[in-house]
Amino acid sequence: MENKSIIAGNWKMNKTPDECKILSEKIIDSLRDIEGVQVIFSPPFTGLNEFETMSPFYKAAQNCHHEKSGAFTGEISIDMIKNCGASHVIVGHSERRIIFKEDNSSINNKILAVTKNGLTPIFCIGETLEDRNNGLAEKVIHNQIIEGLNGIDSLDKLIVAYEPVWAIGTGIAASNSDVKEIHEFIRNVLKNIDKKHYTPILYGGSVKPDNSMELFNVPGVDGFLIGGASLNPESFVSIAKIMEKNRSS
Ligand code: PGA
Repeated sequence: MENKSIIAGNWKMNKTPDECKILSEKIIDSLRDIEGVQVIFSPPFTGLNEFETMSPFYKAAQNCHHEKSGAFTGEISIDMIKNCGASHVIVGHSERRIIFKEDNSSINNKILAVTKNGLTPIFCIGETLEDRNNGLAEKVIHNQIIEGLNGIDSLDKLIVAYEPVWAIGTGIAASNSDVKEIHEFIRNVLKNIDKKHYTPILYGGSVKPDNSMELFNVPGVDGFLIGGASLNPESFVSIAKIMEKNRSS
């Protein structure tokens, strides 16, 4: 994995194909000379084919089906995603887990299929407020990692995104100390699976231009997965530039 910081924009169910093209072009134009930061756009499926990307810009799907093809009405395969030029797939986003009832085992199937096809999963994990209030944050995250990565022993092609559910879209990001603690915890769990490879760990949950410098400087944060602020080109560009300026290496 390249030694770069990563900023990924999850556009969720927003932007028509035409709007995806406009948004990506605006951002690419403003970040053309960015150094040391990898930029990943995750439009809805219908936007994936609407724009081209070249390093340091990449495209990610927001979901996939783990089977190669077949009678799965409404689903999208990894080959289809790949054919649109995407290199990454977001897997296990909390909205998929909660609204669409995906569990660790279905997420594991997707991670296995994505890696087998040579794409990089952006594997989302994170506790709910109830988990946290019951002192279960680490236990839940541990299970998400162990069950989600079952059968994967090399972590050379993986990005993890820690996204506390209570911080997503609420305007209330996790505190620096919570982020530091959980990123350290995740790092240790990952090390037990594969000591050799360094897996970038992103933070996600109400990242905005005005809290991005502080969060980016938290030890163990390799970048961000951004929802709301990624729909606004000025905000997204300004976060990417803050990352470029504050990179330690
Ligand atoms: P948010 O979403 O930045 O709007 O909190 C993050 C995400 O869902 O990935």
